[in-house]
Amino acid sequence: MAAPLDLIIRRARIAGGSGEPLDIGIAAGRIAAIAPRIASDAEPHDVDGRLVIPGLVETHIHLDKSCILDRCPLEGTLQQAIAAVAAAKRDFTEDDVYARGSRTLEKAIVQGTTHMRTHVEVDPRVGLRSFDAIRRLKADYRWAIDLEICVFPQEGLINDPGTEELLVAACEIGADLIGGCPYTDTDPNGQIARIFAIASRFDLAIDFHLDFDLDPSWMHLDEVCRQTEQHRRGGRVAVGHVTKLSALEGDRLGAIGRRLADAGVAVTALPATDLFLMGGAQEHSVPRGVAPVHRLLAHGVTCSLATNNVLNPFTPFGDCSLIRMANLYANVARLGRTRDLAACLDLVTTQPAKLMNLTDYGIARGGPADLVVLDCSDAAAAVAELAQPLFALTRGRRSFTRGAPVLHRP
Ligand SMILES: [Zn+2]
Repeated sequence: MAAPLDLIIRRARIAGGSGEPLDIGIAAGRIAAIAPRIASDAEPHDVDGRLVIPGLVETHIHLDKSCILDRCPLEGTLQQAIAAVAAAKRDFTEDDVYARGSRTLEKAIVQGTTHMRTHVEVDPRVGLRSFDAIRRLKADYRWAIDLEICVFPQEGLINDPGTEELLVAACEIGADLIGGCPYTDTDPNGQIARIFAIASRFDLAIDFHLDFDLDPSWMHLDEVCRQTEQHRRGGRVAVGHVTKLSALEGDRLGAIGRRLADAGVAVTALPATDLFLMGGAQEHSVPRGVAPVHRLLAHGVTCSLATNNVLNPFTPFGDCSLIRMANLYANVARLGRTRDLAACLDLVTTQPAKLMNLTDYGIARGGPADLVVLDCSDAAAAVAELAQPLFALTRGRRSFTRGAPVLHRP
């Protein structure tokens, strides 16, 4: 006989399912049963036909430098943003990073994010202080969210002596993966080669910041694909921003899409930052500058939409809502048909889960009871109407509840 259920979510519409309301029975932190009507006296949560998703997956955020607008000037260019944070982070303490990071992490949790990859800057200015703070956050918030730590050299590697030793030290202590930022280095290809070498040594995935401008005449993407194949790391390499892709005409974009899919390199668009920082040289007819990831999907590329920065000189906005990011992308890419809107929800759920190689993700019998209830009945509505997350379960335990608004009629 099956173990007794701990709780039941009744009348849930499951993302990617038939659309019929089903009961989801949960025992010991996992999904024990999915059926039209489960007979049990376990604690019921009737969601009245609302959409249940397997948690939002954030592949690219910077917890360590979030919430520092009050200590940085804001000019709206990439170079200024990097310089402003470089100056500010000399004063980062472990407790300061922990406090700001926890504020940002809690915002993400109440927006329904259950898995997150955060980038963390490591270099001689900040040492391992931010890394140490984020490691504490990872342990302290595991009850709500699975956090993956990607250490990377925001200000360059080859041109910044002492950085590589710190990155290697972080990998020895327990960084989950390594990133890069070749466009900030005097020797971009040299940096790409060093990052692949460290990743191979520690058997880590890689997540680069890449090709972050609108000049399509050159790219570092070719070198990343080449090194991915040379080091046999297909399926474990992602690139973020890649805003140059927004400046390509269709044939060339298609060729690059096929190259990315063949090499196993995934792409993350960061709409809030990319819209804020790209095209600033123009006062009118400003280009949107967001990589067209929905077109890359059609070529078999794994893609995601992510938050990137929150309340800092790179992006002076942020509620950590991936539903809002999906809506923003749909708006910018002019996607309005039902199936295109639904694909935008995939870009913050199943696609990023694939990008992060999450093996324990998805709503299925035997799967993890990581579930988020959205205040809508289908995927297209979630994106079009910015459906609010009402509550989430992490490993079967409720991690937050959002009260429904109440109208006070006269
Ligand atoms: Zn980033």
